[in-house]
Formats: sequence, structure tokens, C-alpha cells
Amino acid sequence: MNTREVQAALLSLGYSLTADGIAGPKTKTAIQAFQRGRGLAADGVVGPQTTKALLAAVAERTDSKSTLPAPSLPSFAQPRATRAIDEIIIHCTATPEGRPVSVETIRGWHKAQGWKDIGYHWVVLLDGTVAPGRPEAEIGSHVAGHNTGTLGVVYVGGVAADGKTPKDTRTPAQEAALLAHVKALIARYPTVKKVTGHNAYSSKACPSFDVRKDELGHLV
Ligand SMILES: [Zn+2]
Repeated sequence: MNTREVQAALLSLGYSLTADGIAGPKTKTAIQAFQRGRGLAADGVVGPQTTKALLAAVAERTDSKSTLPAPSLPSFAQPRATRAIDEIIIHCTATPEGRPVSVETIRGWHKAQGWKDIGYHWVVLLDGTVAPGRPEAEIGSHVAGHNTGTLGVVYVGGVAADGKTPKDTRTPAQEAALLAHVKALIARYPTVKKVTGHNAYSSKACPSFDVRKDELGHLV
């Protein structure tokens, strides 16, 4: 693959860079993030293994596109919560940019902490798929002292490729899906008065951006 082909592949997978055919620092960072996400040595060089993984990732994405016209839309195939919901709180998984994380993995982390289930109600995956977590009818476990009247929505990501520096790593697909899903939740729960981030209640960086300065913070 030449540089332009590599860039086009990374763009289609939701990485942010410009398809200019120049192997600059942004392209290298995206390649490294992709390599980390696939468990490859993150050297930023597109060798045979990375080429194979890139082609496989694009093929997977194309396959899922052909069966699903768009990243799956919010599915509310579950009962509405009967308690009053007045707030939606946004989170990140605090996992490195580009690394896929499944609902089952997060559920495993939270159960290992002794919780009965995943703490969040909804999970926005890297490709913009919105997957259900804990049922809305059950009180979540996502912000100490603010679980009862809230729903927790998490996006996969939130730290840079180094695994620790807070970074808004939302892919374009995640950004769009998160916004659409929160809008749908507000329509489903007209009692929602605000959308906030975990960092409004904690010294944590989560979700690694200021929700009040994002479109999400201005929906109600
Ligand atoms: Zn959080």
C-alpha cells in the first residue's frame, strides 16, 4: 500500500488525518493507534503485518456496512426506566485511541469490582454502534452520588495512544452516534434537564472533553 492508500484506509476506519499522500506525524500517530488497537508493535511503519491488518479492518467495515446501512441506530428494545431521569452523564472507557473495547469487556471490569453488571446504560463503540449496557430500568453505577436520576453513556476511548494522557478520541462515527443517541434519550425521557460529563462531579478527566462546550451540552 502506498501512503495515500494507507491514509484512505485509516480515514475509512475513523482516524483523523488528511489523505495528502505525505507520511507526516498525524499519519504516523494514526498508524500507531491502529497498530496498538490490533495488538501489533506500534512502530508507525506499515509493514506486511500492518498492511494485512489494515486490509482486514477495511474489509470488516465494508462487510458490516453491506449488512447494516448505517451504524446501528439506538435500540430501545427494553422497558423505559420508571424512576425520574433528569440527567444524562457522559463517560469514556479511558482506553487508548483506536483500541476496540466490547460491552462484555467493560462488564467484566465492573463485575471484577464487585458490581452486579456493567455500570453504564449505553456504550458507543469505535464504529459508532450504540450497544446496550445495564438496562435503563436499573440504576446504573457510573458517578458516585449521582446514579439514581441519571443514565450513563460511555464512548470507547478517551486517552491518547500512550494509555494515560486524557484525549477526546471520539471517531467521527462515535461523535455522530453519541449525539444522535443522547438526542433520542432526551426524546424518550422528556424530564431530562441536562447533559453533563463525569468530570463535572469528579476530579477525573472522564470523558476527556468539556460537555458544556460540546453540542451535547446544549441539547436541553
Ligand atoms: Zn466516567
